[in-house]
Amino acid sequence: MYTRTPQNYLKETSSSFSRCSFSKFLNDRFIHSLSHLLWPETCPVCGRIGLSCCESCMKSVIFPLAPFCVKCGGPFGLQCCSDSVSCYAASLHDGISRELLINLKYKNVRSLGIPMGKLIGVTFNKVPDTDVLIPVPLHKSSKREYNQSTLLAEGISLVWKTPVDDKTLKWRKDLLPQVGRTSSARHMMPLDAMEVSGSLEGVSVVIVDDVYTTGNTLRAAMVAVEAAGGKVSSVLFWSRRIPSPENEAAWAGI
Ligand SMILES: [Zn+2]
Ligand SMILES: [Zn+2]
Repeated sequence: MYTRTPQNYLKETSSSFSRCSFSKFLNDRFIHSLSHLLWPETCPVCGRIGLSCCESCMKSVIFPLAPFCVKCGGPFGLQCCSDSVSCYAASLHDGISRELLINLKYKNVRSLGIPMGKLIGVTFNKVPDTDVLIPVPLHKSSKREYNQSTLLAEGISLVWKTPVDDKTLKWRKDLLPQVGRTSSARHMMPLDAMEVSGSLEGVSVVIVDDVYTTGNTLRAAMVAVEAAGGKVSSVLFWSRRIPSPENEAAWAGI
């Protein structure tokens, strides 16, 4: 007859605990969590672990918009603004496209930058006679260790085979960053907010930025490039933000 002694009890419970915990340890949830610890990045589209975004998933958010006017944001090509320049955005600033940009810009997922830039480069044909890609610079007050627009430009450069210059265009004054500013405050950005070091005489420039909001940053960049003798032939963005009262509320922070 089997008698359960304290020793047996201990043995039983410990072996059943180890069997039980072993199977628990092997369940998908644990493996998923462990993998997540080892590779904290997760594709925001399909949830795959270990990647900031799968290539195919990133492609699925591309929704190229019709070219628009850098000055008024209206359709490019209509009689709207004199000396206008065409802007191209690879997606709407919404859903996964917006999430990818937030991860790149605010969550330190810099590995997204070049693939996102490459997608912009394959989405839009190379602007003929482009000499250089110039990213909009990081504001002096920014604590970010990298410029997301430079990474996007480097991605475009790999497709277009056009060099990137991220040293020439700079902010002139220590202006407040755009994030969190109201639309009217953004409109107050002076047109001479940026400057170019050196000359861009006869140079055809494509400016690269992450998201088109009010266009004020772009106008300041264009003024600086043109004052240095350069010609802005086009502007490329990852996305375009379409302001509306609902979007403004949902997008507080970017
Ligand atoms: Zn994915
Ligand atoms: Zn216009």
